[in-house]
Amino acid sequence: MTKNKKVVIIGAGAGGMASAAILAKAGYDVEVYEKNSGPGGRMDVLKKDGFTFDTGPSWYLMKDVFEDFFKLFGKSTKDYYKLTRLHPAYKVFYDYRDSITIEGNYKKNKKIFESIESGSGKELDEYLSLAQKSYSLALKYFLYNPYTRVISVFNKEVIKSASKFFSLFVSNLHRYISIRFKSLALQQILEYPSVFLGASPFNTPSLYQLMSYLDFKEGVFYPSEGGMYEVTKSLYQVGLEQGVKYHFSSDVNKILVEDGRTKGIVVNGKEICSDIVISNADLHFTETKLLEDEYQTYPEKYWQKKKPGPSGLLLYLGVKGKLLELEHHNLFFTEKWQENFNDIYKAGKWPKSASMYVSRTSATDKTVSPKGNEALFVLVPLPAKESIPNKDLEKYVDNCIDNIANQAGIKDLKDRIVLKEVRTPEFFKEQFNSWQYTALGLSHTFKQSAFLRPKLKSKKVKNLYYVGAGTQPGIGVPMCVISAQVLYKIIANDSSPSPLKKIREL
Ligand SMILES: Cc1cc2nc3c(=O)[nH]c(=O)nc-3n(C[C@H](O)[C@H](O)[C@H](O)COP(=O)(O)OP(=O)(O)OC[C@H]3O[C@@H](n4cnc5c(N)ncnc54)[C@H](O)[C@@H]3O)c2cc1C
Repeated sequence: MTKNKKVVIIGAGAGGMASAAILAKAGYDVEVYEKNSGPGGRMDVLKKDGFTFDTGPSWYLMKDVFEDFFKLFGKSTKDYYKLTRLHPAYKVFYDYRDSITIEGNYKKNKKIFESIESGSGKELDEYLSLAQKSYSLALKYFLYNPYTRVISVFNKEVIKSASKFFSLFVSNLHRYISIRFKSLALQQILEYPSVFLGASPFNTPSLYQLMSYLDFKEGVFYPSEGGMYEVTKSLYQVGLEQGVKYHFSSDVNKILVEDGRTKGIVVNGKEICSDIVISNADLHFTETKLLEDEYQTYPEKYWQKKKPGPSGLLLYLGVKGKLLELEHHNLFFTEKWQENFNDIYKAGKWPKSASMYVSRTSATDKTVSPKGNEALFVLVPLPAKESIPNKDLEKYVDNCIDNIANQAGIKDLKDRIVLKEVRTPEFFKEQFNSWQYTALGLSHTFKQSAFLRPKLKSKKVKNLYYVGAGTQPGIGVPMCVISAQVLYKIIANDSSPSPLKKIREL
C-alpha cells in the first residue's frame, strides 16, 4: 500500500531522523528537509582548533531505549558506537559545603548518603525501588502509548499501582523529596534531573523521581569515542541504510494543504509534493508559521497559556593543561536553590547565583582535545527570553567561570582558556526557530506532561503529523526516539501501549 507513497519530514533532529528510518523500513519513500547544514538538530557537534564539543545533549540516559530502537532494524547500538560506563557517575560541587562524588556503584552511593544524613541510605533504597517500578510501568504502558484508546492504560498492573501513581502525579518533586531527605545537598542531587525535562522540581510531578533510577541504578554512559554526536551519526546512518534521502540547507517555508489534507511543503520557495508531512521542527513554529490560521491545531492563543522550558547560556571552552579537579560530569549547585528556579521560571531574571552543569568529556575521550588539554562544556539554565546586553554578558560569563574555578579549586582557569565560544538564548531561535528562545521546548509541568502534551497528529489537517521533544512523550534524546515509534503506531493504527517490537510493511 505504501508503494510510491511519499513522506516528507521537516527537520533532522533525533525525532525526525528516527521517524525517517522507521517509515522507510515500513515501505515509504522518505525525504528529510533540514534548514541547517547537517543532521542532529540540538544534538550537533562543534569542532574548532583541535577541540570537539557536543553542542547540546551530553548525558546518555535510558540506554535500553536506544538498544530497542536499533533492534527494530536487526541492529544493535554496538554496530554504531561503543558505550563506556562512567566511574564515577558525576561530581557535585556546592557553594556552601564540600563536594560529593556519586560513584558508578550503588553500595558506595548509599554509604555516601548515610554519611551526610543518618537514615538516608535506607530512604534511598525505598525511593529508588519506587523509581524503578515507576520507570518500568512508564516504559510498559505510558511512554510508548499513542493514547488513541483510553482503555489502553487500564490493565491489572497499572490499576494495582493507580493510587501510588496518582499521588506521584499530583505532588511536586521537591515536596516529595523533602519529606524523605532533610539535607539540602541530597535534595539537590535527587531533584536536579527535573532540569533534563525543562522543568523546576517545584513545579513538576514527583513521578519524575523515576529519573534517579537511571543515574543511580542503570548507570551513566558515554558514547566513546566521539560523544553524543555518535548517536546523531547512528540515527542518520540507519536511515540511509533504509533508503532515506536527506536534503540539508533546505528551509521549509510552508506546509501545503488542499481539501483538508497535506499536499506537500514549500522548500526554499519550491513546491515538493508528498502524501504525508511530518514536522520535527519546533511545534509552535510549525503550527503558527508554516500553516495558515484555519489549519492550526495549536494556534497562538494555545501557546499564550503554555510554559516553555528554560533557555541557556552555553560555553564551549578549550583549556590548556589538565583539570583533574573535575570529573566527566559535574554539577555546581547554589544554596539559593529555590530562588534560582524562581528566577528562571517565574521572575524571568538571569539568576545571580546560578546552578550550572559542566562536562569534561576529555576525561573519558582523548579524541575531543589536543593532548594535554581539556574540552569543557558549561550549561547555565536561563529564562526563555532574549539575552542581556553584551557588556553585561561578558561580566556574567566571567562570573560563571570564576565560580567554577573557586568551587572546584582550580587555579588560573580563566588564564588557561585557549578557546571560548559563547552561545546565548538567541542561538536557539536563530538555529532551530525555537518558541520563546527555549533550549528544550515545552516544559514538563503538571499540565504539560504525559497525555497532556500536544498530540502527534494534527486535528485540522489529514496526514499531517508531529514528532520530537515538543510532543509526546517529551524532552530528551531517548524520548524523541520513542516519539518516532509512537508516531509509527499512529500511522499504522496500532493502539498498543507497550514498546514497539516490529516494524511491519504498511
Ligand atoms: C543544551 C542542551 C542540553 C541537553 N542535554 C540533554 C542530555 O544531556 N540528554 C538528553 O537526552 N537530552 C538533552 N537535551 C535535549 C535533547 O537534545 C532534545 O530534546 C532533542 O535533541 C530534541 O530533538 P528533536 O527531535 O525534538 O529535534 P531538534 O533537535 O529540535 O531538531 C529539530 C530540527 O528541525 C529543524 N528545523 C526547524 N525549522 C525548520 C524549517 N523551517 N525547515 C527545515 N528544518 C527546520 C531544526 O534546524 C532542527 O535541526 C539537551 C538539549 C540542549 C539544548
